[in-house]
Amino acid sequence: MRYIEEFRDPKAAKALLAAIETVVGEIGATADKPVHIMEICGGHTHAIFRYGLDRLTPPGIEFIHGPGCPVCVLPMSRVDECVKLAERPEVIFTTFGDAMRVPGSRKSLMQAKAEGADIRMVYSPLDALELARRNPDREIVFFGLGFETTTPSTALSIQQAAREGLANFSVFCNHITVPPPIKALLDDPHMVLDGFVGPGHVSMVIGTTPYDFIARDYGKPIAVAGFEPLDLLQSVLMVLEQIRDGRAEVENQYSRVVPREGNAVSLAAIEDVYEKRPSFEWRGLGEIDESGLRIRAKYKAFDAEEKFGIGYGAEKRVVEEVEGCACGEVMTGRIKPTGCPQYGKGCTPEMPLGALMVSSEGACAAYWQYGGLRGFDQSDVPVEAAE
Ligand code: SF4
Repeated sequence: MRYIEEFRDPKAAKALLAAIETVVGEIGATADKPVHIMEICGGHTHAIFRYGLDRLTPPGIEFIHGPGCPVCVLPMSRVDECVKLAERPEVIFTTFGDAMRVPGSRKSLMQAKAEGADIRMVYSPLDALELARRNPDREIVFFGLGFETTTPSTALSIQQAAREGLANFSVFCNHITVPPPIKALLDDPHMVLDGFVGPGHVSMVIGTTPYDFIARDYGKPIAVAGFEPLDLLQSVLMVLEQIRDGRAEVENQYSRVVPREGNAVSLAAIEDVYEKRPSFEWRGLGEIDESGLRIRAKYKAFDAEEKFGIGYGAEKRVVEEVEGCACGEVMTGRIKPTGCPQYGKGCTPEMPLGALMVSSEGACAAYWQYGGLRGFDQSDVPVEAAE
C-alpha cells in the first residue's frame, strides 16, 4: 500500500472486521466476558474513536485506554513548577500548545499567560533555541515534555545549545518512557489485560525490543501498530490470533516505519543527554520506578531544575488531584470517562478539570468529541453540558 486512502479502504476494513469477528468467536469472547486490549498510545485512542472502531468491532472486545498521552499523565506538581518558572520576570517560557491548558493546582500556563507571564508556544525546541539567540538578556526555558517520540529533539537542542555556548537556554525536563508504566500496569493485581496494541511513534525511536518483557515475563501478546484504521484493525487481529493460539509474542504491524532495533541516531542522542530518574510521578498512576528522564550532569548548564533550583532536585511536592476527578481510574481502565462524576459537568474540553479532557489524545476528550464507546448514549451527558 502506498497511499493513505488505501489504509482507509472500506472493503479491506470489512474483511478485517469479519476476520476479527471469527477469531473473537473462536476465543469465546462475549460482551459479558470480553477480551481486554489496551491501546497504550493516546494517538491510537484518538484514532479508535475517530474512526468508530470501538463500535465496528464485536462486543467481545473491550478497549482499555492506556497512559500514552504525555499531557494527560503530567502530574499537577510539575505544572505548578512550570507556572512558577514562567512567572519569573527574566524567563521566556516556551512550550508546545497542548500543554497550555493542563490544570495545575493554582492555574494553568494559559491562565498564567493571561495574567502577564511571558509564555510562548513553539513547534519545536529549535524555535526556543532561536529565541535564546535573539534574546541574550532573557532566560529561555523550554518545557521538555513527552515520550521517546519527542525526547530526541529536545536532546538535539541541548547538544546544539552546548555547541553554541548558549548560556541563556535551558530545558525543564519532563520526558518519560513507555515501558515502565506498562510494567507497572501488568504488576497491578487489579488490572485485567489480555494484550496490547503497541505505540507506533515511540517504537519508531526505540524499536520493538524494549517490549520483549511483556511477552517473555508476563505472557501477553503485543502488536505495534500504525495510526490508520486498517493498521489498528490488523493489529487487533494479530493480538486476537495470538490469544487464540496461546502465543505471546512481540509483533510489528507498523514495520513500514518501525525497525526492530529503533533509530540509532535518536537513541544515541538520548543516551548522551539523559539518564533515568530513580522514579517519576505520573498523574493517576503515582510514582513509577525509572520512568522519567533527567538531564545528565555534563549538560547541567542547560537543566532548568539545576539553574532555578526547582523540581526533583529541590524539595519534592505531591499535589492531590482535584476532588471528584477520576483521571487515574480512567487511565487504568477501571472506569470509562462517562463513569467520572465530573464528565460533562465540572469537566468539558472548554473548561477541563482533569488532564484527560485537555489533549485530543486524552480518553475523556475523545469520548466527548466522538460520542464514546458502544452503549454510551449521548443523553447520559448531564444537562449542564448539553446546553
Ligand atoms: S471527566 Fe475530567 S475529571 Fe473526569 S476523568 Fe475525565 S478528565 Fe478527569
